[in-house]
Amino acid sequence: MPTNRELFIDYLGQTSTAPLLLEIEKAEGVWLYGPDGQKYLDLISGVSVSNTGHRHPEVVEAIKNQVDAYLHLMVYGEIIQSPQVQYAELLCSLLPKNFQSCYFVNSGSEAIEGAMKLAKRYTGKSKIISFSNGYHGGTHGALSIQGNERYKNAFRPLLPDTQQIDFNDFQSLGAIDGTTACVIIEPVQAEAGVIYPENDFLLEIRDRCSKEGALLVFDEVQTGFGRIGNLFAIERFGVVPDILVLAKALGGGMPLGAFLSSKEIMSTLSFNPQLGHITTFGGHPVSCAAGMASLKVIIGSKLVDNCVTISQAIRKNLKHPSIKEIRGDGLLLAIELTHKEYVGYVVQHAPEQGLLLDYFLFNDSSFRIAPPLTITIDEALEGCTRVIALLERAVKNVDL
Ligand code: PMP
Repeated sequence: MPTNRELFIDYLGQTSTAPLLLEIEKAEGVWLYGPDGQKYLDLISGVSVSNTGHRHPEVVEAIKNQVDAYLHLMVYGEIIQSPQVQYAELLCSLLPKNFQSCYFVNSGSEAIEGAMKLAKRYTGKSKIISFSNGYHGGTHGALSIQGNERYKNAFRPLLPDTQQIDFNDFQSLGAIDGTTACVIIEPVQAEAGVIYPENDFLLEIRDRCSKEGALLVFDEVQTGFGRIGNLFAIERFGVVPDILVLAKALGGGMPLGAFLSSKEIMSTLSFNPQLGHITTFGGHPVSCAAGMASLKVIIGSKLVDNCVTISQAIRKNLKHPSIKEIRGDGLLLAIELTHKEYVGYVVQHAPEQGLLLDYFLFNDSSFRIAPPLTITIDEALEGCTRVIALLERAVKNVDL
């Protein structure tokens, strides 16, 4: 009988040349459990997905209740399904008042595709502006607006009329002109290694978009649902986009994405042509039930406050000579090291230290810390102790 590890290597479509190869049998709260009794502290949350931890009882209960009622019924947007409509209303109630309409899809990439189509359809224009080192997903459209050439070149030709400008470069905002359909931005760039916008950068983009008749799209796939110490980055920076893209924690551990806008903007997808976006599984009722339960936990258990408290504790306790800088003030933290050679060692050897850590796609001198927002102070301090032990090993073992 082949082992699961052998099957993983032999049969699973892979694109990583160095997967973590951890086998997990069960997950609960901030802990992952292996078949050998090993226990790993999850400092990644499936890359900003499990904001309420693994198998939160209220999320599990919502999923079970929905499974007992119905699974998939019909393609999106035909049948009234309670989890979808209730969740759409809850999301809109927590956002600025222009967000009155929520289109559920399956993933972040698909939500980005929907947002790009919506902006083109509403404005009648085609130019899409995005930012260097921005990440928006793996589909062709999302790849076209990705701000890193290394992952794009092999797949050209991509979408025409897209342009990437530098994040925090006020000069380059002149690219937003009368031909621009939309500007798509992560309010805090995640895969770039947690880069915050400089004062008024987002505001300046907002002003320029309004002046030129371009829509502003916030990709809050990673920043949403409390991760940066606010429920959404919209609140944090006081800038309101025209379209909001959500995914990851939106589904409470189940696959779900969404793009939201005003009714006026969204309605343009229903004529010339009608059915301007179609999805079979988008807004799956089990995903919506799980996501809504998870969002209620984030609010009810004040996880946004916990996020800020824990972030401060990590910043205070995570000290080591190999740490050059810690970026972020929520639980999307980039730990920048003095030597990028240490980063690979730290991530690859983390499981031996009972930890799960990860890289950033576009920043090789930092590693990521992004635990569930349910993490307690004791768990966070335990995490810091283990990370420091790992850094100590890296300094000893890595030849520079
Ligand atoms: N936008 C951002 C900011 C992301 O981080 C990601 C995924 N890492 C996506 C979009 C794409 O989401 P998905 O992987 O669900 O397609």
